[in-house]
Amino acid sequence: MSIQSAFDRGKGILRLAPAWVPRSFCVPGRRIKLHPDDYYALGGERGGIDERWFASTTPADNGPLTGEHEGLSKVVFEDGGKVEELLLRDAVAELGGNLIGKKMWDEYGKWPMYSKFFDNKGALPHHIHHRDQHAGNVGQMGKPEAYFFPTQVNNYGADFPYTFFGFEAGTTREQVRQALIDFVKGDNKITNLAKAYRLEPGTGWDVPPGLLHAPGSLCTYEPQRASDVFAMYQSLVGDQIVPTNLLWKDTPADRIGDIDYLMEVIDWEANLDPNFKEKHFMRPKPVKPVEEMKAEGYIENWICYRSSAFSAKELTVFPGRTVTIKDSGAYGIIMMQGHGKMGDWDIETPTMIRFGQFTHDEYFVSIQAANEGVVISNPSRTDPIVMLKHFGPDNPDMEME
Ligand SMILES: [Zn+2]
Repeated sequence: MSIQSAFDRGKGILRLAPAWVPRSFCVPGRRIKLHPDDYYALGGERGGIDERWFASTTPADNGPLTGEHEGLSKVVFEDGGKVEELLLRDAVAELGGNLIGKKMWDEYGKWPMYSKFFDNKGALPHHIHHRDQHAGNVGQMGKPEAYFFPTQVNNYGADFPYTFFGFEAGTTREQVRQALIDFVKGDNKITNLAKAYRLEPGTGWDVPPGLLHAPGSLCTYEPQRASDVFAMYQSLVGDQIVPTNLLWKDTPADRIGDIDYLMEVIDWEANLDPNFKEKHFMRPKPVKPVEEMKAEGYIENWICYRSSAFSAKELTVFPGRTVTIKDSGAYGIIMMQGHGKMGDWDIETPTMIRFGQFTHDEYFVSIQAANEGVVISNPSRTDPIVMLKHFGPDNPDMEME
């Protein structure tokens, strides 16, 4: 079947297959519904699966062993009882503006974000994503990202549900410089200079590029710009040594070994901001007056609303209700709870998924379908439908904060 006929048959909504991604340096937190036998489905050398990527046209960068389509979302459709798959990336290339909107297609020539579940048992090292000016030195774009901790996948917080951000006010450049010099000495103690915040299910944080962060161990829904630029500035996390090549990752060849370059990458003002929480913490915000939405049978909240590179919403449809939800832009969705119908599609929330198994919990809604309004009905008498929706850059519906 052609991409166009899959698009037409789904009335502008594409069904996606789960895209599981392993990380050799991570231990899975086992909260993303994979069968317990499948967290190492790709073999020990590839590491455990602790990520599922959503609406992704971005390949995972997992070194030489990376699978051909790792990290890429696939569109699934059935043709005369036969299941076929094609890459969302190819669907975007062929359908262009009809799928993601003319403005975005003209500006980016691709779907420029993706989201994921990040499900790590421990904390990550204090690391940084480069701003555009430094990412550009290695042919990449800067990488803003954001976090939301869905309650449905956080019945336990794992080893360290706290995240370090930036540096404690009053930290000197000399102290940070020394920690970077000490990277090769074992424990560079860079988080001694940082402040950690306790993570709270049902809330989130905005993380602009240039800001150091050591993500904690809650299971995280993570919309982000489609870029994989980073450098790890912490040498020991828990009991694990971080390899030195990750300190210099995405440093231009002629600056490798130059501590001043690592210092330039740091957005000093943002990292030492005494009002950090006020500017970066995100509690959900209703998209319009709550009573109005309740009367219509749903509640929708902005959950990521501080970046122009992407945004995200959480939609709850009450039991027994049918609603029509309009959006100005195309978006991907992942089902978190409940079951029912979205347009002509079944939507449901599997309890457990085998590696390679198809689901009905992830979709991509074209701009056309989003503009016309998506009809969602919840046949349950008790269980709400809850879905998370990830949007591309400059969502016209969002007032940035
Ligand atoms: Zn990060």
